[in-house]
Amino acid sequence: MDLRRAAKVIKDLGLPPYRLDQVRRAVFGHAVSSYEEISVLPMELRAELTRSAAILCLAPREVLVSPDGRARKAALALLDGKVVETVLLRPSPRRWTACVSTQVGCAFGCVFCATGRMGFVRDLTAEEITDQVLFWRRHMLREGLEGGVSNVVYMGMGEPLANYAAVAQSLKDLIDPRQHGIGARHVSVSTVGIPQGIERFAADFPQINLAVSLHAAEDELRSRLVPANRAFPLAELARALERYLGISSRKVLLEYALLAGVNDRARDADALVAFVRRLGRPELFHVNLILYNPTEASLRPTSELEARRFQDRLLAAGLKATLRQSLGADIRGACGQLVSERR
Ligand code: SAH
Ligand code: SF4
Repeated sequence: MDLRRAAKVIKDLGLPPYRLDQVRRAVFGHAVSSYEEISVLPMELRAELTRSAAILCLAPREVLVSPDGRARKAALALLDGKVVETVLLRPSPRRWTACVSTQVGCAFGCVFCATGRMGFVRDLTAEEITDQVLFWRRHMLREGLEGGVSNVVYMGMGEPLANYAAVAQSLKDLIDPRQHGIGARHVSVSTVGIPQGIERFAADFPQINLAVSLHAAEDELRSRLVPANRAFPLAELARALERYLGISSRKVLLEYALLAGVNDRARDADALVAFVRRLGRPELFHVNLILYNPTEASLRPTSELEARRFQDRLLAAGLKATLRQSLGADIRGACGQLVSERR
């Protein structure tokens, strides 16, 4: 839903600006499925909006629901036929989190990530990003799911900070109380760790949460797992994080997918502790351990027992660390499993 387009239709028809408020309230407040449902609008306006300002710029191809009902994944077709995936998660009974994609594919090629293996196809527009949230809100209404979308995480396909302008616009629209009205503190952006992007993000959105995909705290290993590390090594990432903390008061999430025998050894935990300590404000970091969701035959997930051991080592050193509950693996909607269908 691009309100700017609806505003233009209303202006071109010579209608008063309050019509835009009516559209806005119906689309964002009531998540209507079509302009025809907005009975307060003149028929001529409904028809013209339907023609020139479609509410959603994407259409569902397929929606999968996990057997426990706590994860849903949708494949959405964009106007040019490209497909992105988005996920809706229910971490607790009345809380729903939408996980959105920011690009079709991704250029960064992390070895454990299915999106990375697709390569980069194209950036999404701001509207294509926020429409994923609107899609889920309408889906919830239709399916009679209670609560609303309370949280949005930019952890789907693509690297948000490599599509900065569109991502920034989408964040503004999401937290705008006159549009989606999601609380800034309930929105998180996850990045592979682009220093310049992190600094820009800090200046523009100090209230929005930042998550950094670390996965290893030592350059050689990280460069193997996360090739972006060759361009942006840990020292540069650390400098950007220090500047981030100078501006934002939010806690930073460090994501760490555990790979058996690769980055889950005691020395890897110790390197992580040292990395966080060097940043100076260890209390402002939270390590989020993720059990690797298999996407690549040569890598195996760490066992839960070993993951707990890794976590304990971090806790013993005074770091905050949790093991993320993984939802959606049964519908291939968990972290790192999103891909466009091959055609
Ligand atoms: N490009 C961004 C955001 C999308 S990925 C980023 O990399 O942060 C969202 C998270 O899932 C990242 O932390 C990513 O490293 C992690 N991830 C990717 N593949 C995974 C896999 N197979 N298992 C577990 N986590 C994975
Ligand atoms: Fe891209 Fe993130 Fe996947 Fe890496 S983990 S390939 S940056 S989407």
